[in-house]
Amino acid sequence: MADAPQPCDLLVDGGIVLTLDAADHIFVDGAVAIAGDRIVAVETGATARARFAPRERIDARRRIVMPGLVNTHNHTPLVITRGMVEDMSFAPMYTPGVPQGHRIGAEEAYLLARLGVWDLLRTGSTTVVDYYRHGASCARAMAESGLRAFVGGRIHDTDLAALTRGEYRYDPKIGEATLRENLDIVARWHGHDGGRLRAFLAPHAPDTCSRDLLREVANAAERRGPPVHTHLAQSPDEAAQVLRRDGRRPSEVLDEVGLLGPHVVAGHCIYLEPEEIARVGSARLSVAHVPIGNASSGMMAPIRQLEEAGALITLATDTKSHDLFEAMRAALAINRVQGGGRGLGARAALRWATANGAAALGLAGEVGALGVGMKADVILLDADAPNLRPVVDGISLLVHAGVGANVCDVIVDGRVLMRDRRPTRFDPDEVVASAQAVATRLWAQSGWSPILARSDS
Ligand SMILES: [Zn+2]
Repeated sequence: MADAPQPCDLLVDGGIVLTLDAADHIFVDGAVAIAGDRIVAVETGATARARFAPRERIDARRRIVMPGLVNTHNHTPLVITRGMVEDMSFAPMYTPGVPQGHRIGAEEAYLLARLGVWDLLRTGSTTVVDYYRHGASCARAMAESGLRAFVGGRIHDTDLAALTRGEYRYDPKIGEATLRENLDIVARWHGHDGGRLRAFLAPHAPDTCSRDLLREVANAAERRGPPVHTHLAQSPDEAAQVLRRDGRRPSEVLDEVGLLGPHVVAGHCIYLEPEEIARVGSARLSVAHVPIGNASSGMMAPIRQLEEAGALITLATDTKSHDLFEAMRAALAINRVQGGGRGLGARAALRWATANGAAALGLAGEVGALGVGMKADVILLDADAPNLRPVVDGISLLVHAGVGANVCDVIVDGRVLMRDRRPTRFDPDEVVASAQAVATRLWAQSGWSPILARSDS
């Protein structure tokens, strides 16, 4: 007599299952069984249907099933700058007349962060690094969303109002306050919801943090153990300022204070001299590569050399568009341009957006693939979408033709956060309308004329 089916909480039943495990196992009619927050089986649909009596079932017969994506660098409240700053200057923080940073209140940051969260969720990012001024607001939005998130603050000791005028003024009081704020976020949010949220320290960048402040952050990270996220080599101005101030290149300063290592994820890494590439690589730094942001600013990080030198490359959208499928495709194309026609393959680009991101965040073997014992972070794509046909290979298709809008269902920690493109935890119309109202108001206050604040004449 056959054994009685065993209970499980959720069965993702049917569909093309791309495990993205070490062997790249694919099931053409597969199933993923979930109990609590973990995957308990990835196998053929026929086996799973006989073996499990699920409490809930998702019919995945017309879906592509894959692990959720890992997006290693974002600042969700900066959705407010979307479609506005890309043609102005390299980063909103250094640009006058933009409603960002000190011009955004805590509640406004929260309402904007919710829009970013919704965009991340609907495009398949299930693990997200997110931080900004009012990091607690980002953390609150992430906590409510159900996404797996790494949250932090924004530590700096430059006067940011002066910075938008191109002046570097360091004030230890600002450093103290922003470090304390970040430590409060660590105390409040690290480990929240069974470890779904984790916290880190986020010194903004080598130019906006004095060397003393960077050292203090390094000491705090060593004492308390949280990982560190920062920006590195984001602009020629950053390098010039650090050189003027410390007589060193930015990566050298990070290295000297103890902030160059595998516990650090650095966004961008664009303007690196050859000896810095070697230093960053041998330190095994994790790089949050932002291909579209880099390309839009007119300069691309030397990613091929960084990877060859030993850096761990991960992928990030850095807020403007949150579609990591788009970022994978851009990373691949740009990598090949840099390589004179040779370069990154589709599977490698997908690895950057899954397993590499997981490794950089200390989640190797937990997320970034579908396997027994791993966290149940799963996304389902519409297999009938014309841009995802014909299916032959399966994996390359996702990178060369997939878009975030193909994602229909999202599961994190075994909880269904989006079902048939509807979020289960919030009202998407309310989220969009609230963020729009904040943006319209703040851009108008900054002297602009938002079209939704006008009337037709
Ligand atoms: Zn950034």
